[in-house]
Amino acid sequence: MTTSTIAPADVDDLLPGLVALRRDLHAHPELAFAEHRTAAVVASALRALGLEVHEGIAGTGVVATLRCGTGYRSVGLRADMDALPMVSLGDQPWKSCHPGAHHGCGHDGHTSMLLGAAKQLVRSRRFSGTVHFFFQPAEEGHGGARVMVEQGLFERFPCDSVYAVHNWPDLPLGQAQTRAGPLMAAADRFDIMLRGQGGHAAQPHRTADALLAAGQLVVLLNTIVSRRIDPGDSAVLSVTRIEGGHSHNVLPAEVRITGTVRSFDAAAQDRIEAALRDTVAGVALASGTETQVQYTRYYPATVNTPAEAALALAAAADAGLQASLAERPAFTSEDFAFMLQRCPGAYLWLGQGRAAGDTRASHPLHHPQYDFNDEALPLGVRWFTAVAERALAAPASSEHLSSR
Ligand SMILES: [Zn+2]
Ligand SMILES: [Zn+2]
Repeated sequence: MTTSTIAPADVDDLLPGLVALRRDLHAHPELAFAEHRTAAVVASALRALGLEVHEGIAGTGVVATLRCGTGYRSVGLRADMDALPMVSLGDQPWKSCHPGAHHGCGHDGHTSMLLGAAKQLVRSRRFSGTVHFFFQPAEEGHGGARVMVEQGLFERFPCDSVYAVHNWPDLPLGQAQTRAGPLMAAADRFDIMLRGQGGHAAQPHRTADALLAAGQLVVLLNTIVSRRIDPGDSAVLSVTRIEGGHSHNVLPAEVRITGTVRSFDAAAQDRIEAALRDTVAGVALASGTETQVQYTRYYPATVNTPAEAALALAAAADAGLQASLAERPAFTSEDFAFMLQRCPGAYLWLGQGRAAGDTRASHPLHHPQYDFNDEALPLGVRWFTAVAERALAAPASSEHLSSR
């Protein structure tokens, strides 16, 4: 457990405004790269603070910059703004009023916490250097962070380190965790097409049976992780969809198989893709089908650098959180990974689960009734604030002089 002797920043007066903001964002969820209203709300709040604001990065991304003192270091703090394409079954007064969109992952909370931290840092100014606030679009499956990086995020807004947080329903409110190294998995998708000729089900000898080949392939794909990957490495391969066939007496000409692969290590990821391609080629040869494989690596593993993971935990303790090391990474994935590929940094899990005995509903991420726990707002504001203050702590006078 990491402890701190620093009193947490007093942000209580910001809370009524932040809760109202968070619920307004929850009521108006917007999907990937269409966060127009959200981005406008964010940009106007940042401008009202007197910050330098840049809009239109990766479409709806917003960046603001705050400078203080003569320090030459800079830190990036990132929040995601998008909602999920899913039906909302919430019954709160602030439930979604956009059909088919729902803040089921708490990005409304992340955005509100980072805006709260901007307000707190503007008034407290207990740092020396530059803070960049990154509000990104399209975290949910569309790689908004990758697009921001490709559009020159770190060239325009150079950072010595970068940090982000996700609310974590599995952790009780008041706790926070992270670890050095992989925290969340790389996510890949595979799409396999098997083609026979199709034909009469009573004459199977006259066609290559794509459906039978698909059945064999599902079984063989499920042996890749257990037989081809070092038991000390963690990985998952799941087949999630099979499509093919229309009738009881027709052998289909085409069958499609789709699934996902999760891994933490680039070498294991390479071996899984290679084994998948070999397995498909082997089944094609044995069955006489033609096959096509599309293998897409959409998010890399989220890998924290050790010094920044330690700083993230120390800042959590400063914020009054019970901060501890995560025992193992999670198999979910996160596009902040693209920022961590370019810049040292760390990602934190912020507990937002209800305490035992609390009868109010607490739902997992991506659940139709999920709602961000507003009691986590001040904790996240204090954590972002403490990260900036630690990363940009005023240098000792000797260091300050020697840097000139
Ligand atoms: Zn999500
Ligand atoms: Zn999320």
